[in-house]
Amino acid sequence: MSAVQRVCLSCGRCCDGSIFTHANFKEHDYNNSDLINYFPEIKNQKLLSLPCRLFTSKCPVYNETRPQICQTFKCRVLHNIENGIYGEARAEELVAMLHNLVGEYRQKFEIFQNFDDNLSLSENHEALLNNKKVRKAVHVQLQFATLKFFIKKHFEKN
Ligand code: SF4
Ligand code: SF4
Repeated sequence: MSAVQRVCLSCGRCCDGSIFTHANFKEHDYNNSDLINYFPEIKNQKLLSLPCRLFTSKCPVYNETRPQICQTFKCRVLHNIENGIYGEARAEELVAMLHNLVGEYRQKFEIFQNFDDNLSLSENHEALLNNKKVRKAVHVQLQFATLKFFIKKHFEKN
C-alpha cells in the first residue's frame, strides 16, 4: 500500500461528511453492477450522500469497487505527498490535527444538541444555527470557522 493510500485510509474525512455533503457518481459508475449492489440509488440519483453509508472507521471497500470519484479524488495533502512537498509523517500530522478539530467541534456542538451521524458536519451546523437557543453560542461558531479555515488551508486544492 502506498503512502497516499495509508494516509487517506487513516483520514476518511471525505467519507464521513466532515468535509463534503455529497459527491457525484460518474458515468463510469452507472453500469457497474458491483457498485449498484452497494449503492442502488445510482440508477435514480446522481449524488452520493455523505456520510457514506459504507463508511465505518475507514472505507470498507477501498481495495474493491468504489465509485470513480472515490478512486480519483485527491485532496491537497495527498497531492503534496505525491509531489514530494512533504512526506507521510507531515501528512499524518495534518490528518491528526483535522481529527482533533472535528472532535473539538463535536464536543462543543453536543453541549446543545445531538450530532446526527446521518448528516454531514455542515448540515449539522446548519441545524444548530436554526436552533434559536444556540445563536449566541459563539464558541461553536468559532470552532466551525476554525475547522473550515484549516480544511481550506491544508486540504483543499488551489
Ligand atoms: S481529505 Fe484527503 S486524506 Fe482525507 S479522506 Fe479526503 S482525500 Fe483522503
Ligand atoms: S465508497 Fe468508500 S471511499 Fe467512497 S465515500 Fe464510501 S467509504 Fe468513502
